[in-house]
Amino acid sequence: MSEFTKTLCPYCGVGCGLEVSPPAQHNKATNRDSQGNPIWRVRGDKAHPSSQGMVCVKGATIAESLDKNRLHYPMVRDSLDQEFRRVSWDEAFNIITQRIQTIRFTQGPEALCMYGSGQFQTEDYYIAQKLMKGCLSTNNFDANSRLCMSSAVSGYIQSFGSDGPPCCYEDLELTDCAFLIGTNTAECHPIVFNRLEKYHKKNRKVKMIVVDPRRTPTAEAADLHLAIRPGTDIDLLNGIAHLLMRWNYIDTMFMDDCTSNFPAYAEVIRHYPPEVVARQCGISIEDLETAARYWGESQRVLSLWSMGVNQSSEGTAKVRTIINLHLMTGQIGKPGAGPFSLTGQPNAMGGREAGGLAHLLPGYRVVKNPQHRAEVEKFWGLKPGQISPNPGLTAWDMITGLENGAVELLWIAATNPAVSMPDLERTKKALLRSPFTIYQDAYYPTETSAYAHVLLPAAQWGEKTGVMTNSERVVTLCKAFHQPPREAKADWEIFAEVGRRLGFEKEFAFANSAEVYAEFVKLTKTRPCDMTGISHAQLQAEGPTQWPHPQEGSGEWGVGSGESPTPHSLLPTHSKRLYTNLRFHTPDGRARFGAYYSKGLAEPPNPDYPFVLTNGRLYGHWHTQTRTGRIEKICKMHPEPFIEIHPRDAARLGILDTMYVEVRSRRGKAKFPAKVTKAIAPGTVFVPMHWGSLWADNAEANALTHPESCPDSLQPELKACAVQLIPISVE
Ligand code: SF4
Repeated sequence: MSEFTKTLCPYCGVGCGLEVSPPAQHNKATNRDSQGNPIWRVRGDKAHPSSQGMVCVKGATIAESLDKNRLHYPMVRDSLDQEFRRVSWDEAFNIITQRIQTIRFTQGPEALCMYGSGQFQTEDYYIAQKLMKGCLSTNNFDANSRLCMSSAVSGYIQSFGSDGPPCCYEDLELTDCAFLIGTNTAECHPIVFNRLEKYHKKNRKVKMIVVDPRRTPTAEAADLHLAIRPGTDIDLLNGIAHLLMRWNYIDTMFMDDCTSNFPAYAEVIRHYPPEVVARQCGISIEDLETAARYWGESQRVLSLWSMGVNQSSEGTAKVRTIINLHLMTGQIGKPGAGPFSLTGQPNAMGGREAGGLAHLLPGYRVVKNPQHRAEVEKFWGLKPGQISPNPGLTAWDMITGLENGAVELLWIAATNPAVSMPDLERTKKALLRSPFTIYQDAYYPTETSAYAHVLLPAAQWGEKTGVMTNSERVVTLCKAFHQPPREAKADWEIFAEVGRRLGFEKEFAFANSAEVYAEFVKLTKTRPCDMTGISHAQLQAEGPTQWPHPQEGSGEWGVGSGESPTPHSLLPTHSKRLYTNLRFHTPDGRARFGAYYSKGLAEPPNPDYPFVLTNGRLYGHWHTQTRTGRIEKICKMHPEPFIEIHPRDAARLGILDTMYVEVRSRRGKAKFPAKVTKAIAPGTVFVPMHWGSLWADNAEANALTHPESCPDSLQPELKACAVQLIPISVE
């Protein structure tokens, strides 16, 4: 038997396969950290179809985080000014269930809410949905994915009638033109970028366009870098569309047969001639024309995007405007082409499948659809009408719900909102007001643990067996290879035990996570994400598997969904790409053009706050550093935060390299050492988003950001806010 256990990297949505072996089985001289702790050995899994043996520094060093600063026992306190005291699981469960029952029967279930995470395995997500949305009758379950990719979800649903990225990673190596917008793929999705870059270097005819106000490592590799002004994405996209129309690069036959609403879109793009667009975006007309020409002359165009598009007050409109370009040129449903959103977290996709956002139900269903609710109620054995018809509180709604007293119990799991939410001062004040907060995490302390009344120790990566789905819809079994420390439990086990103690014994009678997954996939039957042919045993035997993967004889695509009654929507079983039959999940089977004028930033710069602050990830760090801040190699790689300022702006303000700069927005302030660089466009500044109060003083990017959100996806505009810069002397 192999000494290696196959699993998945638990950081980003690329979803790289890993193989892990125990410390005793390899060289003892190199398998200990500086404290002498044994470190498990990790290597890339060459058999994993998504990563083919490659890993980045995060995946390579992940094992170092297993044993550091773990939360070992349940702990409670009556108020936030008290010390925690250790309690048994039994006592913790009793405290939680009594509190839930009291709130349920006095204030009603809508006063309960749970905030989960793209770090969950699908089984964790599924049990949380069944508990909250099913048994407790509140849709107040949202996840940090709301801050990450919910605009991609709403964009896909509105354009195609269903969520789901239609592409696969193989398309990276089959395209003629890669159009990357709002994504620093080289640092944030490194193995996706490795695949694209290798192919691009080998094939000089292949074009790479990168749209980003920063000259990132991704932009460095591009044939064309469009450093647009923040907030002008829709101007650019409509400008490219205008030129594609003018130069007749459109696929009229595809549009006639497969799309709807083009006249409304054509009317919009008429208003985006190149002179206007170039001026608005701050780029040259020549570069705009080059982008349109690259797009129009390519047989296969693949667009990639992530948070730079999604984290916007017009996020859904941006996603749909990207999709529009594919629809007008017929660039979808074929190898090397399509609109491909990259998810930030390892199992954000699994969360979408399991219904892990406040407006969703399992199996790509939506709360607002009565038929979808009825299907799930029947499956879960609930009374008709037990699932609320109202979408629940989203991530930011939970903060405002604490402010206005609507939320009585907040259960946070596997995420760190005291760093990752926008407008942190307001967020922290709201968390302080919470009557009862349960915080369930693998690590202690985190910035959020300071706001908890109950701490529950969670098993993490490598300590529980479950399933995750990556950006290309590949499902991987992540096997446990390590005991959870002391009393830590899998998230799904904690949720299930609470469910049983609330009286739902039958609903949560699962012996293991394989049984949980087996129940979940039944809810995907005949849905667009049909994965009824996937199980723990099948994944173990056959390896990572892409959906749709229906069980043999599972039926036709869309039957029973209430969304796809058209006879042409037959299931393309086991297809690498969605929509190869050029039929979509809309009632008429056609993809819908979205017609949007650009609105720009929710908070544009002005004379008082003259700079646009943007933020993002660094290559080595992950989110709020809960793991990576405990890994020596990564901390050495990125020892401190910084602010990137263009030399022209720096000179005007008297800012020198490494000099500290205070950054102020309308909501808060932070300070960073300056990095004076031409990598950032004049008028824009950049800070990394990884530093919370545990890792640096006053260097929180989200002390500055605002919560203005996309009206469709309710995703906040974390990527841009207006700030002023004040140079300060080194302390
Ligand atoms: Fe992990 Fe993402 Fe790096 Fe792959 S690219 S090893 S999934 S962090």
